[in-house]
Amino acid sequence: MKCPYCGENCVDEYILELYIKSLKNFKMRKNTAFNGIPIVCEAGVCKNTGKRIWYCPHCKSLTEYVDSFNAIVQCPNCHEKIALPATNRTVC
Ligand SMILES: [Zn+2]
Ligand SMILES: [Zn+2]
Repeated sequence: MKCPYCGENCVDEYILELYIKSLKNFKMRKNTAFNGIPIVCEAGVCKNTGKRIWYCPHCKSLTEYVDSFNAIVQCPNCHEKIALPATNRTVC
């Protein structure tokens, strides 16, 4: 999948695979959802811009990072609600 910033392959495919699998296996259980809203996956960091890359479980595509103080934000692509990962969480 291509990076939403520069179009190159900056994402960590392994993390992405794990995340997609966990969505399928656990169907929005507590580690993949926050109040019923799916937690976005941090799929990596753009090699060229240093910006964080997200994978949205709604539109199933890579999106730009949204900086917010709220736990819930809108996907820049599909405008569906997504939950931010807990600050210290390293795996989705
Ligand atoms: Zn990139
Ligand atoms: Zn989306």
